[in-house]
Amino acid sequence: MSHYLLVKPHHFVDIMASFAPGFIELKSHPYQHSLHRVSLQILEDRNQMLRIELGADAICKTCILNKDGLCTDLIDTSFRPQAPSSKRAYNLLLDERWCGRLEMQCNELLTAYDLCKRLLKNADNLEEIYREVPADYVNRKEQTLRSGLQHYLNKTIRWTYEL
Ligand code: SF4
Repeated sequence: MSHYLLVKPHHFVDIMASFAPGFIELKSHPYQHSLHRVSLQILEDRNQMLRIELGADAICKTCILNKDGLCTDLIDTSFRPQAPSSKRAYNLLLDERWCGRLEMQCNELLTAYDLCKRLLKNADNLEEIYREVPADYVNRKEQTLRSGLQHYLNKTIRWTYEL
């Protein structure tokens, strides 16, 4: 079995939601993080082992805003005024809520496939997780997450990959 990938729960959720269209273009981001690489690994190997991480993960590893393992980014609080402006603080809130919902602990090991199955059983009432954001965003997130999970579990995703 392949080596594990560190993954923040909400990053994994975002990856699954990005699979919703069924066809995706994986390419590098101006932040130079590794979202496209991690997405590719998860697409190519459903038995990819993941280790749950609440700090910097495999996506953050190459990000220009990761300074000594700490995220220095700020989030747009204009449409979510109750959220902390520090992305690190906000991400931690989301990740702790996802861990509670999915009954996971930091450092837990599981496959991408198993995490998907667990997510699919718990992909409703997302307003409990994304409490600080408007309801229409949360509704869209719930729909895209379910769609992406179904595509992944049914192996109906096609993709292109660009470094
Ligand atoms: S360091 Fe921050 S901005 Fe960069 S990938 Fe990680 S969470 Fe996102």
